[in-house]
This record gives sequence, structure tokens and C-alpha cells, in this order.
Amino acid sequence: MDLRFTAEDEAVRAEIRQWLTEHLDGEFAPLRGRGGPGDEHEAFEGRRAWERALGAAGWTCVGWPKEHGGRGLTLAQQMIFYEEYARARAPGRVGIVGEGLLGPTLIAFGTDAQQRRFLPPIVRGEELWCQGYSEPNAGSDLANVATRAVRDGDEWVVTGQKVWTSLATWADWCFVLCRTDPEAPKHRGLSYLLVPMRQPGVDVRPIVQVTGTSEFNEVFFDGARTDAASVVGDVNGGWKVAMGTLAFERGASTLGQQLAFDNELRQITEIARQNGAANDPVTRQRLARAWSGLRIMRFNTLRTLSAMEGDALSREGMITKLYWATWHRELGELAMDVLGPDAIAGEVWADDVGALQRLFLFTRADTIYGGSNQVQRNIIGERALGLPREPA
Ligand SMILES: Cc1cc2nc3c(=O)[nH]c(=O)nc-3n(C[C@H](O)[C@H](O)[C@H](O)COP(=O)(O)OP(=O)(O)OC[C@H]3O[C@@H](n4cnc5c(N)ncnc54)[C@H](O)[C@@H]3O)c2cc1C
Repeated sequence: MDLRFTAEDEAVRAEIRQWLTEHLDGEFAPLRGRGGPGDEHEAFEGRRAWERALGAAGWTCVGWPKEHGGRGLTLAQQMIFYEEYARARAPGRVGIVGEGLLGPTLIAFGTDAQQRRFLPPIVRGEELWCQGYSEPNAGSDLANVATRAVRDGDEWVVTGQKVWTSLATWADWCFVLCRTDPEAPKHRGLSYLLVPMRQPGVDVRPIVQVTGTSEFNEVFFDGARTDAASVVGDVNGGWKVAMGTLAFERGASTLGQQLAFDNELRQITEIARQNGAANDPVTRQRLARAWSGLRIMRFNTLRTLSAMEGDALSREGMITKLYWATWHRELGELAMDVLGPDAIAGEVWADDVGALQRLFLFTRADTIYGGSNQVQRNIIGERALGLPREPA
């Protein structure tokens, strides 16, 4: 196992660091630190322009192969990219669903025509996507999806309701898991459709979250239409494609977040030093445990990378989502305890206190989206430990 970065990796670090410094000191300076969790509405148009600037410079889709418009970085180099991005406090990405989920799915399962049509606008930061999986009765039990798609000539007609659809208000397209054969067993009657959002049959209703913002939405499809060729994979073979997308969601896209976590922990530690919270022995222990947990996370990521370069997730990789989500939720709780009465002091929050408040509120979701902690434990039990399968 080799946990060091190569000279080539470090050259990528220098290049991205320089580009970010130059661009975040100029026109885009007001976007620094904006648009993270709980802050999604902030400066959206500016962040769209930022996405296009990243695209023009070849800094979107850095892990995609070059033939699909990506930069072809190795996993270690992608981690470096995300680290530098967090270190520079560059703005929250608006194109994350297209880049991290749909793009890799099309590269793995899409037709040539689909790749030619949909990948370039993602690389250029021009088309935004959302993920239409969850429904009121289909979350962890995703195969329960009830949204129907029916063929009508050269088109599919989609009817049903999705929920918790992140960024749907801004999305141009949605990848929708639909039931196309109601007679088939649950997993076998689903298809993965690409549906344009800006049409009369699509109604997006924002859900106000505990953060006061609306990162996610209800999406109602009422006779929405899409081209017959917009099925990814086989008709009724959508389950396999949907699972492919989920693997991307739990994989490389979370590699660099430890630097962002480090920024948060440093801020909390500094406040604890200033307001005296660090004098409390239990708080000191919790700060030290958080610091150690972050190091463990980083070394586990490095060992996962060194074990797998290019391969499917290893056993080490399977604990990643469970570990970071739990750690991050506990960090939000620690932030509130360190702030003490300031945590609930309403309007008088200073900017950084508001950010930590958002951290606390948004991290409640970390152990739910992308597969809840319980579901992650089932995956570890079955796939890493080889325990008997959960009873259906
Ligand atoms: C911030 C956020 C953003 C999201 N964005 C999107 C999005 O863009 N697109 C989208 O499609 N979805 C999105 N989701 C939805 C997310 O994928 C679901 O919330 C998640 O899959 C859980 O489903 P559920 O909410 O229906 O809970 P349920 O599945 O009803 O689970 C309820 C509880 O039961 C537990 N449970 C369920 N099944 C089992 C089991 N087999 N074994 C043990 N325990 C179990 C769960 O762990 C949980 O504690 C988002 C969610 C959040 C919080």
C-alpha cells in the first residue's frame, strides 16, 4: 500500500491551485464560500457563470475519460482536485448531479447518440440535471417506484410523483426511474428515462426544509413527454442502470470533502478557544475525537484509492458513506454545543455562526440521502461480511 501522491499528482495540485487562486480573486471573488448545503439559493446565477468558466478551462468532469470531454484524472488526482477546491472555498457546484451521477451513468450505459447529445453540455456547464428516483412510497425500497411511463408513438408519456428531488427548480433535465411494465416483478419492470423539465406536464414544488431553504422539491409528472430514444439501457432494464448511478453517488464524488470538513472543524475549534468552550473537558475530548476521526477518514480514503485504482469499491470503500455521514452529523452537534447560547440566538447570528447553524441543520440529512445509515449497514453486512441476505 502506497499512501503518497506522485510528482505528477502534485503537478495537478499546483495547476488547479493556481487557476482557483487567479479566478477566485477576480470576477468571482464574491462567490467564495457560497452555495454550500443550506445555502443553495445564494448567488445561483453567479455560480452558473462560474460553472461555465470551470467548463471552459477544463475543470468540470475531471474524472471522466478524455474521449467524453473529461480531463481523465486518476482517482488520486480527482481527490486532489476536490481538496484544492475545498481549500480555496470555491462555490458550491450547480452542475453536480449531471457531472457526478448522470454523466458517468451515460458513459457506462448510454448509447453513442445519448453520449453525444448529453455529455458536452454537462462538460460546458450549460445543462443542469436532477435525479428522479425517490417517491412517497419508494425511498430505501426504491424498486417500489410507481411513476408510470407509457409508449405513445415516438414518445414516452410519464405520469406520477417524485419527491426530495434536489435542485429540480433549476434543472433542465431529470433522469426518472419509471415503471414501464406493471405486470413484471418489481425490479424488472422499471426503465431509466431522460425527461426534459421545461414542459407543461412537469410541475416542480419546492419543499421548505429545516434550513429555511429549498434544496429539494416535489416533482409532479402529468403526461410529461420524452423521446422514445431517451431510455438509458434496456426498456424494463432500468434497475441495473439505477444501481450504477447509485454506485457513482457513493463513490469518487465524495473523495475530496475532507478538506471542507477540515475547514469546518478548524472554525469550530477556533470558536471553542475564543469563547471558553474548550475549557470543558468533555468538549475537549469531542474536539479531539472529531480531529482523529477526520484523520481516520483521510487514511481510509487513501488506502481505498491505493487498493482499487479503477476498480469496483473495495471493502474499505464500503464504509466510506457510513463513516463520513455519521462523523459529519456529530460535528454539527458539536458545533451547536461549542456555540452554546449563541446557537439559538436567532437574528443576532454573525455570518460564521449562521454557517455553523446551517451545518448542524443540513447534516441531519447526511445519514439519509445517498442511502441511509441503516441501508449502508445492510450493504456492509451482505457484501463485505458475507452475512445472509436481509429477508425480503
Ligand atoms: C437532502 C436530501 C436530498 C435528497 N435528494 C434526492 C434526489 O435528488 N433525488 C432523489 O430521488 N432522492 C433524493 N433524496 C431522497 C433519499 O434518497 C431518501 O430520503 C432515502 O433513500 C431514504 O428514503 P426515505 O426518505 O423514503 O426513507 P425510508 O426508506 O422510508 O426509511 C425510513 C427509515 O427506515 C429505515 N429503513 C428503511 N429500509 C430499511 C431496511 N431495509 N433496513 C433497515 N432500515 C431500513 C431507514 O434507514 C430510515 O431510518 C434526498 C434526501 C435528502 C435528505
